[in-house]
Amino acid sequence: MHLSTKVNTMEFSGTMQISGKAKELKAQGINVIDLSVGEPDFPTPQRIKNAAIKAMEDGHTGYTMASGIIPLRKAVGKWIKDFSGVEYNTNEIIVSNGAKHSLYNALQTIIEVGEEVIIPAPYWVTYPALVEIVDGVPVYIDTTSESNFKITPNQLKDAITDKTRALILCNPSNPTGSVYSKSELEEIGKIVIENDLYIISDEIYSRLVYDDFDYVSFPSLSPELKKKTILIEGVSKSYSMTGWRIGFTAADKEIISGMGKLQSQMTSNPASISQYAALEAISGPQDDVEDMRKIFADRREFLFKALNEIDGVKAENAKGAFYLFPDFSSFFGKSYKENKIEGSMDLAMYLIAEAKVATVPGSVFGAEGFMRIAYATSMENLAEGINRIREAVSKLG
Ligand code: PMP
Ligand code: GLU
Repeated sequence: MHLSTKVNTMEFSGTMQISGKAKELKAQGINVIDLSVGEPDFPTPQRIKNAAIKAMEDGHTGYTMASGIIPLRKAVGKWIKDFSGVEYNTNEIIVSNGAKHSLYNALQTIIEVGEEVIIPAPYWVTYPALVEIVDGVPVYIDTTSESNFKITPNQLKDAITDKTRALILCNPSNPTGSVYSKSELEEIGKIVIENDLYIISDEIYSRLVYDDFDYVSFPSLSPELKKKTILIEGVSKSYSMTGWRIGFTAADKEIISGMGKLQSQMTSNPASISQYAALEAISGPQDDVEDMRKIFADRREFLFKALNEIDGVKAENAKGAFYLFPDFSSFFGKSYKENKIEGSMDLAMYLIAEAKVATVPGSVFGAEGFMRIAYATSMENLAEGINRIREAVSKLG
């Protein structure tokens, strides 16, 4: 069988693979605690489900405009303005099939073959894959837990070449949960302008920040930076709508028009029913979002303490998203029975096999030594998961 080199050399999404494995084991009746996937455990709020049912009953079951229905694009504009003060017209917004699709469309629209895209590591698994799909070249900036996994202005300057076209910033970050402050973003913004780069600001976790952190959305920094920003947003995380597949992009109208052209050829519109559900999600009462955020905040506190109570684990707390990214490297080089732990992938496999707990190894995010633990699951599951991890790692010697 001949497969294209591009597909042959591509990795399966590491996060999807591990969560798929957890789902498979669960289907076999094995009691697996899944701390791997970045997916809220809450049902989609009832008001949103009702809007989807109503959309079907009202006959909204045909094609829509390829870039999304006008009422939803208008509502996205208002939703962004209410959150960060930044104004986008309807022709500066496109609705796609999940934020993952928004990111692909954006990259395909701005990247020429061989152009470089800077990606801070640890990175969400999909960024390098998407850059490669569009024939761009990912360029990584390694960060450490000492800098809270954030890039410094000097690191960014050093990574820029005459081939650099864009920087992808995930803020709040998947996988580390780190959030950039206003002054940190301003320093990055200066370099973006000086070097005439685009910034793809993935803010899908923008509504999930804790400790009263003063979250700043990148395009709100200045009108000049707004011009250079491709803002990625969506409903998957904050409205617990991962399966509905709706993502948003807000950017300069020429970029949005390019993305619209691409989308019209590749997928046509995102599901009409999901669009009406998303319209209700972002324009109806927002109490459910805040209720879910508070539950995440409590789980984060619990997880942070519980992880640090495990001998050999070092966790920093993080201000956003629903992940912690603790250091497990003290277990590397150890073993139990036939299990030898050389790195984070071995550890993830050991934890699934021995403890029946799914986590994502740091290596898939370009950061060996760490494990991503998602707290998008119940407190009971978290407590049980941590107990099992503690027991399993204590056997390593
Ligand atoms: N960006 C980040 C940082 C994510 O974690 C995710 C979650 N998969 C996405 C984008 C894509 O979200 P969606 O489910 O809307 O495609
Ligand atoms: N973004 C989520 C995660 O990182 C969902 C899986 C995926 O799309 O990669 O777990």
